[in-house]
Amino acid sequence: MAKQSKTSQIRTPIVCVLGHVDHGKTSLLDTIRGSSVVDTEAGAITQHIGATIVPIEAIARGNSSLAKMQFNIPGLLFIDTPGHHAFTTLRARGGSLADLAIVVVDINEGFKPQTIEALQILRNYKTPFVIAANKVDRIHGWRVHENESFATTFAKQNERVQGMLETKVYELVGKLSDLGFNSERFDRVRDFARNVGIVPTSALTGEGISDVLMMLIGLAQRYMTDNLALSVEGPGAGTVLEVKEERGLGTTLDVILYDGTLSVGDEIVVAGHNQILTTKVRSLLKPRPMSEILIEDKFERVKSVAAATGIKVAAPKLEGVIAGTPLRVVRGENRDEVIEKVMSEIEDIQVTIADE
Ligand code: GDP
Repeated sequence: MAKQSKTSQIRTPIVCVLGHVDHGKTSLLDTIRGSSVVDTEAGAITQHIGATIVPIEAIARGNSSLAKMQFNIPGLLFIDTPGHHAFTTLRARGGSLADLAIVVVDINEGFKPQTIEALQILRNYKTPFVIAANKVDRIHGWRVHENESFATTFAKQNERVQGMLETKVYELVGKLSDLGFNSERFDRVRDFARNVGIVPTSALTGEGISDVLMMLIGLAQRYMTDNLALSVEGPGAGTVLEVKEERGLGTTLDVILYDGTLSVGDEIVVAGHNQILTTKVRSLLKPRPMSEILIEDKFERVKSVAAATGIKVAAPKLEGVIAGTPLRVVRGENRDEVIEKVMSEIEDIQVTIADE
């Protein structure tokens, strides 16, 4: 079974899914979330506010080569809302909240305007990504092997189908080259720092999905562990995903916490229209597990959470907070410094929005 190394504390990388409309972003996310959302055993995929965490054990379960490896990341956090808007409005540390991305492209349709836009955005943000060349099951004559890895299903296709897939992958490689990216089919990439991996997938049949997950883990392990290290301790930092009225709770914030810890009673700094507010966390809420769906209160209260996670924050004075703005915890540090930090982050957001 895959082990998580105990020597280093590394937070879960945050992943966003981008691509053209109808190419399969939502289906891919649904397949990744899979039926094991209801699974209650250890290592089960868990639903968070605005996000889904797929633990490393769940990824390794579907992949025999991964099962023997040692990992120092706990899993992957997928932002539930696909698309450019979520990627670009959810900012953190002057960049995007997402550490990694999947660009979904319909292998039969090829690149469309929003695919190109997604690639340009990822280049601007210097976000590592993989391409999911989706809907391979639509290739004429494709034989479906549900949930199999790409290598397994590809080996079972006839030569004509294999050739067709190769041609379509090379069309994508050519298009990516025109846009200034070196790429290859993922199983032929030697250096992921120089080449983008293209994974043939079917969100409908699950083929190639384990390879996408493995590629993301590989990118995170190899190129991002410095960014992710130690981010599970210290005062929390997050981005407001949504501002929502909840019955009995008043105005609440759905927050993706990307750094540190957030606890009930913590003083937080958030941003409203033309003003910075400070308030104290009254409660932290998670969605209840599916098995407890009959309990009337749909949220479960927790005392403290660590990055990366999605959490609902209830606190006084949250009316007027704006989605896409930062949230920071004041702890030990000078409160004025934290306020300064939030103000400069907001200026940064406004400058970047004006640039786009
Ligand atoms: P989005 O707009 O990018 O989120 O695309 P959706 O996930 O909503 O998918 C658009 C349509 O394509 C839906 O009818 C899906 O069922 C279908 N679809 C998505 N992925 C696949 C796939 O891998 N194979 C096939 N055959 N259909 C797919």
